[in-house]
Amino acid sequence: MIIKSKEENDEFKNIIKSKKFNVKVDYDTSKVSKPEKIIYKYNENIMKKFIELSKEYGFINIGFTKVSPDVILNNTKLEYDNAIILVHEIPDRLMETEPGDLAKLYSDNFYEELANKTYALSDFLRKNNVDTETIHPEYDEFINFSKIAAKANLGGIGGSGLLIRPELGPKVKFSVILTSMDLPNKEVKEDYSWIKEYCKRCNKCAKACEYNALTEDTFNRKKCKGCNEGCTYCINACPFYKKGYDNIKRKFIKYNEKMEKKLKKQNK
Ligand code: SF4
Ligand code: SF4
Repeated sequence: MIIKSKEENDEFKNIIKSKKFNVKVDYDTSKVSKPEKIIYKYNENIMKKFIELSKEYGFINIGFTKVSPDVILNNTKLEYDNAIILVHEIPDRLMETEPGDLAKLYSDNFYEELANKTYALSDFLRKNNVDTETIHPEYDEFINFSKIAAKANLGGIGGSGLLIRPELGPKVKFSVILTSMDLPNKEVKEDYSWIKEYCKRCNKCAKACEYNALTEDTFNRKKCKGCNEGCTYCINACPFYKKGYDNIKRKFIKYNEKMEKKLKKQNK
């Protein structure tokens, strides 16, 4: 993976020349007011259309869960406990740019895009009489996004504290829409518990963190340059992103089988 420096990056030079550097991040908000006649019962038809629309907006997956006290931050009072978790890929240009002004610009633009798409989806629900509350990662510290995504069985939390998704590892961000409407339960659940075990032997994200924000067992939010400098070092270093989830899982199972055989031999 090549991380372009800002000096080498033509796009950065053009942004500076065009004096557009202080781009104002303009998060959208709901354009549709809360419905008067609110729906509480699950409606399959609305959800089917919602899923189609979320795909059109570029979300790669969605999950459902109930909000529980362990995922709420800062004692926030939330209106509803039915949560839709939306998964979006982090753009390559952000991943490929070293932390600094340009990466921050890409990061802000990405969060803006994520917020606007989330509000648009929330508005779709409101138009269909489902009341909503939208929670977005850049400025809403109401929910632990990795925890709620794990609760929705969208992946397992890795050593970086980020959620590991099967398609992209930790190269994903989440937003949440809380709804008045009940949501479906996932019947078949994937087991991601092995990810924690794998992470114990890896630790590459902590080694890649140049700002001492991440160590083997701690994360210091104040030191993290993820949002204010667009840092993605820990994501870039993660084998789940670099080598793929299925490959890692296969190797992990093989390694464990080998170790088990070895132990059995020793104990004979
Ligand atoms: S985003 Fe950067 S600063 Fe934050 S934990 Fe990851 S590597 Fe460290
Ligand atoms: S870099 Fe290693 S320890 Fe960190 S989340 Fe990825 S697999 Fe886990």
